[in-house]
Amino acid sequence: APVPAKAGNAPTTPRDFNANLARRDFPILAERVDGKPLVWLDNAATTHKPRAVIDRLSYFYEHENSNIHRAAHTLAARASDAYEGAREQVRHFINAGSVDEIVFVRGTTEAINLVADSWGRTHIGAGDEILITHLEHHANIVPWFRLAKATGAKLKIAPVDDKGDIIIEDYALLLGPRTKLVSLTQVANAIGTVTPAHLMVAMAHAAGARVLVDGAQSVSHLRSDVLALDADWFVFSGHKVFGPTGIGVLYGKKHVLDEMPPYQSGGNMIADVTFEEIRYQPVPSLFEAGTGNIADAVGLGAALAYLEQWGLEAVTAHEHALIEDCSRQLSAVSGVRIIGNPRERAGVVSFVMDGMKTEDIGKALSNDGIAVRSGHHCAQPILRRLGVETSVRPSFALYNTHADVDALIRSVRKL
Ligand code: PLP
Repeated sequence: APVPAKAGNAPTTPRDFNANLARRDFPILAERVDGKPLVWLDNAATTHKPRAVIDRLSYFYEHENSNIHRAAHTLAARASDAYEGAREQVRHFINAGSVDEIVFVRGTTEAINLVADSWGRTHIGAGDEILITHLEHHANIVPWFRLAKATGAKLKIAPVDDKGDIIIEDYALLLGPRTKLVSLTQVANAIGTVTPAHLMVAMAHAAGARVLVDGAQSVSHLRSDVLALDADWFVFSGHKVFGPTGIGVLYGKKHVLDEMPPYQSGGNMIADVTFEEIRYQPVPSLFEAGTGNIADAVGLGAALAYLEQWGLEAVTAHEHALIEDCSRQLSAVSGVRIIGNPRERAGVVSFVMDGMKTEDIGKALSNDGIAVRSGHHCAQPILRRLGVETSVRPSFALYNTHADVDALIRSVRKL
């Protein structure tokens, strides 16, 4: 593969959004499966990587590879610059005030576990309340469930209506003086609900609680602005926003991160070690013990730069049109039922079909070259709330087109 002329993740010149042009940036979309063109509608599980990210990773390993910070030699300096450049890229992308508020982690799951373990175990006690919503992914349920069990706190659930929207009046009633923490998703991965996150964060703060927003499903679809959102923590995974797997972000307000003890400990996060006393590095290094995922952080920076060149607003509008088209065409197929009908939807459409197992639908679509997720999407509570155990979930990204929707509908009609 040709080596890019220079490294760095600086945003390239803005381009007018065009999904067919974007497709050409993703080599894997030219893949054929069983002789059929690949139709990738499993973006909520993971997104594909543009050439810019693939080349950036190769460039790193060919020209910059070193451990960071520790060694005073040229490649260490290059690797450190690339890694810290990626941190600045993330800061810019989510509009955080400072790079000190950006912690690199493995992904959303690790970010939530970090907050639950570090902040949770030092700030939550018996009788306190942790409030999540019925829409959450298991990654935003299980760590809080375990924290509540370990501390004697109560886990409370903000309910949704039959359409899959948060019932905001009930959420208001659940907030009280014992609510220490609220954790909510910005976009629900199983049914696509866009939650009123800004309002819910403000309400939680008014009740004196800290708030975490799970941005795993929103980050590639809606503009992320942590200053406007005002959550104490905002978390996402690189692989769902065209970046590599194994890298993700924990944003935390500086004064909130400063009130958290280390999560893991070892090298990188210390200033001085004796057998009598240990002095720690300030955040974000405090939360980056050991050798991190350096190359993939750099790759994530390149992914965000790639996305920024299209402009999030244009991408949102394009995907919205695809989801409308998909919902409308699916609803017109007899025997198809769409699960959830939220006021605002992003990323995914979930459906079931009379007399067919979702697993079999997934396999049949795969035989036509169409990749969708069928199953419980790691979000069993919300599917059960809406009356199903599993669903079929086509999910969209900027490189999908109306031709992809039409291919899906043709396959579903055959079934
Ligand atoms: N939260 C939401 C809303 C998700 O959709 C996902 C993944 O599907 C996660 C958290 C967990 O992300 P990861 O597996 O990348 O840690």
